[in-house]
Amino acid sequence: MEKMIIIRSGETMLKGKNRRFFEEKLMKSVRRVLKPLGCDTFFLRHNRIYVPLSNQDEEKLISALMRIFGIDLISIATQIPVDMDIIKKTALDELLKAVQSTGAKTFKVQTKRTDKSFPLNSQEISYHVGGFLLSNTEGLHVDVHNPDIMLYVEIKEDAYVFSDRMRGLGGLPRETNGKAMLLLSGGIDSPVAGWLVAKRGVEVKAVHFHSYPYTSQEALDKVKNLAKIMSGYCGPIQLFSINLLPFQQAVAENCPEDEGTILVRRMMTRLGEALALQHGCDALITGESLGQVASQTIQSLRVTNETVDMPIFRPLIAMDKYQIIDIARQIDTYETSILPFEDCCTVFLPRRPVTKPRLDAIKNSEALIDLAKFTTSLLDSVDEEWIKEEV
Ligand code: ATP
Ligand code: MG
Repeated sequence: MEKMIIIRSGETMLKGKNRRFFEEKLMKSVRRVLKPLGCDTFFLRHNRIYVPLSNQDEEKLISALMRIFGIDLISIATQIPVDMDIIKKTALDELLKAVQSTGAKTFKVQTKRTDKSFPLNSQEISYHVGGFLLSNTEGLHVDVHNPDIMLYVEIKEDAYVFSDRMRGLGGLPRETNGKAMLLLSGGIDSPVAGWLVAKRGVEVKAVHFHSYPYTSQEALDKVKNLAKIMSGYCGPIQLFSINLLPFQQAVAENCPEDEGTILVRRMMTRLGEALALQHGCDALITGESLGQVASQTIQSLRVTNETVDMPIFRPLIAMDKYQIIDIARQIDTYETSILPFEDCCTVFLPRRPVTKPRLDAIKNSEALIDLAKFTTSLLDSVDEEWIKEEV
């Protein structure tokens, strides 16, 4: 009899011919978090990862696995020989344990049998185990539609019995889906946007624009802290930072005041794409959400898009703020995001920013400044740092 964590990954396992590639990446993610916790003998079998438990801290293992992209379900199972008497007794232990911790009144047994040589079929196994459980407990009933406790029995080379199935993060394993450059501000939205895209297996790099000394060192540190929290899920993040102040000053001096925000947003996007191309990224990511502020109207988004050829991923585009905040809380960036440090966009905020910019007017305003010169000099002044996850 041995305790095991069983890890399942729905989408990874659906990958047909590429399945091996996804499985190996998932195994790599699992190895990275479990090794420091004293687990190094886990293995892959029948589309699942099995982690034998000895005396490691179970809770720590589970919470580490809960941060891995590509894991859908996690269970703690008892592995036993394929023998009906042992299966019944183990199921009873498991049921009593679950009843004790939840006060449940109803249960259902569900069996999956991949070893077809076993003399009973899945339904027969469930029936026998269920009967045994009913006659050895008091006050418990079977409810096949809406049971308080699901008891799972799986028959393979060995048998597995478990009752809990915890939901993992889902998504696809790290390093399976290319690279993208996140425009990372110190706000609530952009870390969430980066996290959501990273969850699809994308390696995320990030660029932050500041206006030092108008914005403070603390504001920059806050962005680094956000990147650090993200890297706990996404892996090490290469963070670029650029002082946009010279460009913002030129815009303030030469262009119509109400166009300041959109002109700066276009420059950020342009610089983001240039960095993305330099570092092997195929897309940009922003935390924009339709209608949230003046620079995020449908017209503004179009005018911003026009600066680049690369796709811009905007995973929050149709989300409401409270939905975004829910995710920010879940991934632990919220408390850092709301620290009150100024952002470069607020330094030169127009009193009445244009909400329906026209591309030709915006291009005329850009002609009033030497865009090429700024693009070159700003790209020459990029600072770069790898932000490492905290394991
Ligand atoms: P956030 O909460 O992410 O700061 P926001 O609601 O404040 O977003 P905006 O300031 O309009 O919205 O920014 C929209 C998007 O533009 C951000 O989500 C981010 O992707 C990008 N962005 C804004 N400011 C910066 C910055 N200083 N550095 C890098 N990217 C930025
Ligand atoms: Mg912002």
